[in-house]
Amino acid sequence: MANPVLPSSGVLSPLGLDAVSLSPGFWGDRVALNREVTIAHCQEWEEREGWIGNFRGERPRRGREFSDSEIYKLLEAMAWAEHPGLPALAEIVAQAQEGDGYLNTRWSGSRYTDFEWGHELYCYGHLIQAGVARLRMHGEDPLTRVAVKAADHVCRRFMEGSETCGHPVIEMALVELYRVTGTERYLEMARRFVERRGMPALADIPFGRAYYQDDVPVRQAQVLRGHAVRALYLASGVVDVAVETGDQNLLKMVESQWERTIARRTHLTGGMGSRHADESYGEDYELPPDRAYNETCAGIASIMLAHRLLLATGDVKYADLAERTLYNMLATGVALDGRSFFYANPLQVRVPSVPVDGVNHAAEGGLRSPWFDVSCCPNNIARTIASLPAYVAGAAADGLRIHHYASGEIRGGGLAVRVETGYPWNGSVSVRVLEDGRGRIGLRVPAWAADATLSHVPASSPDAPLPEGPVIRPVSPGYAVVDGPWRAGDEIRLELPMTPRWTFPDRRIDALRGSAAVERGPLVYCAESVADQPPLGDLSARVRPPVEHHVDDVVELEVAAELGAGEGNGWPYSAVANGHAEGTDVRLRLIPYHRWGNRGPATMRVWLPI
Ligand SMILES: [Zn+2]
Repeated sequence: MANPVLPSSGVLSPLGLDAVSLSPGFWGDRVALNREVTIAHCQEWEEREGWIGNFRGERPRRGREFSDSEIYKLLEAMAWAEHPGLPALAEIVAQAQEGDGYLNTRWSGSRYTDFEWGHELYCYGHLIQAGVARLRMHGEDPLTRVAVKAADHVCRRFMEGSETCGHPVIEMALVELYRVTGTERYLEMARRFVERRGMPALADIPFGRAYYQDDVPVRQAQVLRGHAVRALYLASGVVDVAVETGDQNLLKMVESQWERTIARRTHLTGGMGSRHADESYGEDYELPPDRAYNETCAGIASIMLAHRLLLATGDVKYADLAERTLYNMLATGVALDGRSFFYANPLQVRVPSVPVDGVNHAAEGGLRSPWFDVSCCPNNIARTIASLPAYVAGAAADGLRIHHYASGEIRGGGLAVRVETGYPWNGSVSVRVLEDGRGRIGLRVPAWAADATLSHVPASSPDAPLPEGPVIRPVSPGYAVVDGPWRAGDEIRLELPMTPRWTFPDRRIDALRGSAAVERGPLVYCAESVADQPPLGDLSARVRPPVEHHVDDVVELEVAAELGAGEGNGWPYSAVANGHAEGTDVRLRLIPYHRWGNRGPATMRVWLPI
């Protein structure tokens, strides 16, 4: 099974790249662009920056202490995409591995002297994930042998003791290697890394131990905190350990941490991380739109966690969050040409950024850049989009469940279907049965789709040459399930209402009080200061139904707004609440948030004062 996550138990089984193929459409196009453009782009930059040369022994060594991991993430992307460049790159990596399995171009010679910042185990985690991808897509080869040898080295060196890594990821990597090889020590090693954390296992640092989730043991933590990517990778690994060891209490603990994090620490886009200084979560309801950090990698990690929880529990809320994050974080992270990337994803940008042609030394999120000093996000995007078909659907005990709508073919749960849809631009999804079969087909109805309808159109048959008319019924959010048996040609049609809707923040989110945002389907919209737009700094939107504009394949929206009357009185406070002079009526164009920043430097805002 060609799948990044393959639990041995759970309510749903994932369907892998061998079971789901996407055709042209929102995601199918991105998978193709990723394979044809983004993967080569990443390799070119890693070569140019010397990070691949580090494995050839070129000196001085270049890049940050964790740059090896970028080559591993790229190898993982290549494995999922069956990219022809993989064997040659894997060969370069293999040559740098030491006899006992140790492999790190930065710390060779001074091994394991800095667990807080050294990232050695983190790098192995990504190497092992690449190895797992290759094993599942191709079978044993030099890359998988390097990964297994490194994992064996880690088990020998770390099975006893109390050490762990400042940056989690090896936990989920080792569990996945256990799943693919059946070698129990990998699972046991992952379990021990999880249990050691928070004892504490690492030194205190100026950011505090919460930065790397070493402040309290995983079983006592109430919420995700600290560095967002670290927190989400760790939680993903904890779910994997809980599922494979049958530890229901541990699974429940992560579910409750997730729930509070979603309720209080997540931006409308699904982005996580409110603080730039340490790339971390803020306190509950600390969700400033302009200072939102929302690292692209944190979005990806959140999709990884939600996907694992969905498989374990079958609860649709995890798929809903994954969808929000796929469309508004993953799709935002990469430019429409596949060659530049966001690192941070704020919901408001006050000053247009200056274009960066080469390496962006900052990561503030005003314009996408071709590369960064810390280039975790581009490679993370590449490996995630390369494996994206594996997130689309799952098999349940009684048949097939479709979580995310993309045109393509799905085989699983004893059924074969073809999905056709223009989603997310329209809400019509057709699922046509390709072969006779039994079992139930479940289609996810997102929480925002209160008035969705479903119809079952039977195929015509010799006995009844005219198909019976479709029976249309309303369906509620959750999985709308249709019973078989099925004949080839049967069709289910799901209609999701795509009327644009205003969304208001919880009043406890101080930074958003008095504002509203517009969503349509799974997409969050924003205003971008290009062309004939009014300036975005002094606007009040009117909460009236937005007008839709279909521009090529994309749906843009227009809302009525009032432009402020200009300068104040030299002091931005007043004895009068909400006192302001009459402004001018303007029309404000909104575009999907994931498309912003593709037309040059601009200001942008998701939340509009009302
Ligand atoms: Zn990143």
